[in-house]
Amino acid sequence: MAQSHFSDWQTETWVCQRCQWSGSTSEASMEPFDELFEINCPKCEGRLAVIAYATEAEVREQAKAGNPEAIEMMPWAEAVERKRTTKEECRRLLTTLPDFDGATLSFTFEGDGGHDPMSPEWLVLKHQGTEVYREPSGFEAWRAIVDISSELRRRYGSRLAWVDPGEVGYALQGDDISANLSIERYLAAARLCPPTGSWSR
Ligand SMILES: [Zn+2]
Repeated sequence: MAQSHFSDWQTETWVCQRCQWSGSTSEASMEPFDELFEINCPKCEGRLAVIAYATEAEVREQAKAGNPEAIEMMPWAEAVERKRTTKEECRRLLTTLPDFDGATLSFTFEGDGGHDPMSPEWLVLKHQGTEVYREPSGFEAWRAIVDISSELRRRYGSRLAWVDPGEVGYALQGDDISANLSIERYLAAARLCPPTGSWSR
């Protein structure tokens, strides 16, 4: 099981069970993953520990208890909360989209803003080329495509013909190689694949 970011891994002296190497965290090798990172033996790559990244709730709790590192991380925790609140407000607006004309409806996704296409500031939803909705996005925020599509399906029922995740559908997968497949599977199962383009079937 992963240790908390706020455990004493930073000052630990490690002993490798496999090759008996011993040393500090700064001497060990680190391998980052999506939700955690590994501390490995620099000699034989044997695993020494698995550390979870700090969560917003954890940072708050630790900061309250006076942990100086957590206090320094509070602006980050507050930014995460602000972004989540905005996103929740946006999702409420999503349920009030107009009753567009036409027997069938189709929507496309686009990314907007930010310096890195993999981490757009906004995820934009367009209906026939016109923006109808946007919400805060970010690195690996691909699940929003499935969530928003589900909401469109709930709202428009069988009138919803297709949804095209477009380029942003690929960009938002980030390092999560299973994401593409998840979006693809969802579109196929919900019968929402676009008629043309890379997301068609
Ligand atoms: Zn070792």
